[in-house]
Amino acid sequence: MATRVSPLARSACIAFLRQQTIRTVKPKRLQNANIRTFRSSTQRYKQELQSYKDSDRYHGQYPQRTHLCGDLRADNEGHHVVLNGWVQSPRTMSQDLIFIPLRDASGTTQLVFRSGSPELRAEIQRLTPESVVCAEGIVMKRPDGMSNKQQSTGAIEVELKKIYCLNPASSSLPFWPSQPATTLPNEEVRLRYRYLDLRRPELQKNIRLRSVVINTVRQHLIDNGFTEIETPTLFKSTPEGAREFIVPTRKPGAFYALPQSPQQHKQMLMAAGFDRYFQIARCFRDEDLRADRQPEFTQIDLEMSFITAKELQEIVQGFVTAIWKKALNVELDASHFPHMTYHEAMLNYGSDKPDVRFDMKIKNITNYLSDVIENDSALDCLVVKQGSKLTGSELKNMQKALELVDEKDFAFVKINENNINSWPSKCGRLKHSNQIGQVEADMNNKMDIQVGDLVLVHKRESYLNGGNTLMGRVRLHLANLLQEKGLLKIDPNTYKFLWIESFPLFSPDEQNIRTWQATHHPFTAPFDEDIPLLTTDPAKVRGQHYDLVLNGMEIGGGSIRIHSPVMQRFIFDHVLQLEKHEYQRFDHLLDALSAGCPPHGGIALGFDRLMSILCNTSSIRDVIAFPKAAGGKDLVVNSPSEVSPDQLKEYYLQVVDKDKV
Ligand code: ASP
Repeated sequence: MATRVSPLARSACIAFLRQQTIRTVKPKRLQNANIRTFRSSTQRYKQELQSYKDSDRYHGQYPQRTHLCGDLRADNEGHHVVLNGWVQSPRTMSQDLIFIPLRDASGTTQLVFRSGSPELRAEIQRLTPESVVCAEGIVMKRPDGMSNKQQSTGAIEVELKKIYCLNPASSSLPFWPSQPATTLPNEEVRLRYRYLDLRRPELQKNIRLRSVVINTVRQHLIDNGFTEIETPTLFKSTPEGAREFIVPTRKPGAFYALPQSPQQHKQMLMAAGFDRYFQIARCFRDEDLRADRQPEFTQIDLEMSFITAKELQEIVQGFVTAIWKKALNVELDASHFPHMTYHEAMLNYGSDKPDVRFDMKIKNITNYLSDVIENDSALDCLVVKQGSKLTGSELKNMQKALELVDEKDFAFVKINENNINSWPSKCGRLKHSNQIGQVEADMNNKMDIQVGDLVLVHKRESYLNGGNTLMGRVRLHLANLLQEKGLLKIDPNTYKFLWIESFPLFSPDEQNIRTWQATHHPFTAPFDEDIPLLTTDPAKVRGQHYDLVLNGMEIGGGSIRIHSPVMQRFIFDHVLQLEKHEYQRFDHLLDALSAGCPPHGGIALGFDRLMSILCNTSSIRDVIAFPKAAGGKDLVVNSPSEVSPDQLKEYYLQVVDKDKV
């Protein structure tokens, strides 16, 4: 098998071969069995280099490009042009008429062979799809009735005079970027050959828009007095929330960690006197990958000193408005950014990131049927207009999908003439209520329940925590179903932003190691008026945290921070019950807070998700040049991969079997 040599290395070799005869070089210090010595083998090398100086590939200077493929219009008629790009499959109509679409980043132009030159014809016939060429020709208006209205260059074609094949593409490519989307191979194959997939106009558009958007943000922040500052990628392991990636060093037992976010550094920058910081920050979290998560991702990260939440939110609204104008030509103003508390969001929508593009609010009906509801419970009710049109199997599938099959406290009923005044009696445990027959009229009136509707009820714990309630999940599932059936219409160009605020500062610890965990991160400040509750009832303490939500997706989150070292230590120590050695890992931050740190706050917006919304893609992978596939794999370079035993040794590491840990 031929050794792979890069073109650059090949040309260096050629230059070298031309200049001198190669002798074996064997300096004394290289005479070691493990050292690979350069040996003369002129004949063999010459043979290998044949494939470099081959006849399919043009060697030498080629004419300079005059236009981009997508730029040519009828006005260019008669111009002599030079184009560069990738050829798509030629369409041979006859010996003397061949069409060759030529694509570059700006679009596609049709080249046409009409000259009858046998040499040129032969060159065209040798071209494999996706070969890179330089084409010279004359712009011609297409004959009457032949223009292509779908294509920006559809009024013209370029009559080919000369073509230089700068680099032929292999004839066994796994796919062609120009082939119809429905015939493309699955995503795994496309991720493996990402450089080919990225040639597709859809992905080109997304990645280019990404650059435009990031520049819009950068410009807006710079114009508003922000300084762009890079913080370290080699950071330290601190128990901030998510699982970290660890980086070994050549010092036994000493590790860096990759940052989950620049949180601690940006707070230290406030202590350092950089009033307004921002960074387009790469962050790393070693979490189980969901469809819209990547182990490395990008955030628009900012922090400001001496500000209120409102001032910070105005800055964010400013650049979001600029992005929407630039990317979508949509005008936003302050009225597009309403506020809602966490409690309202959870009660009315069963979610801390409510999708308010449709109404379907959840109602609390505890008071109507209180005799069958325990003190610490609440009764959620959702009314789906025309919901009786959903079939039994659709509702069963919903129960399966949401794991509700054995949920005793969940029930639903289709409202008809017979049950409209007694429907709770059809709802599981509610049938034991003494109120049945007395409360329906009022409920029907208040919730506009009519024949043909679907009514769903769920008894839940009254203490609200976490990201959603069961009825919130039901609401989203049903909204999707209703949309599929054409019973609910959501305009795809609707953008409903929401600031969600007043989150509980602490939530019950998911790992059950301690009582409380920070709902977001441990640096969020409590509301001043809730400080006394820190010692008596931490569940009731509200944090000065805010999330920016768009169409039911969280696109950013931040907070006013704790700037007092006393408060920060109290929360680490007494509320979060971190062990001393755990909170000592934050000493650098506590020291910075003690060194004259201004009051401050900040936010980070998930840039990949934002781009995915702007590009209307179903996955964030479509807006990232080289995303990871399922399981965190990079299929292009095939990582993560093993390292050699020597490398392990250098880092004092040993790989052991999973079950021996
Ligand atoms: N560092 C936080 C995060 O990455 C955002 C912030 O509070 O500014 O989620």
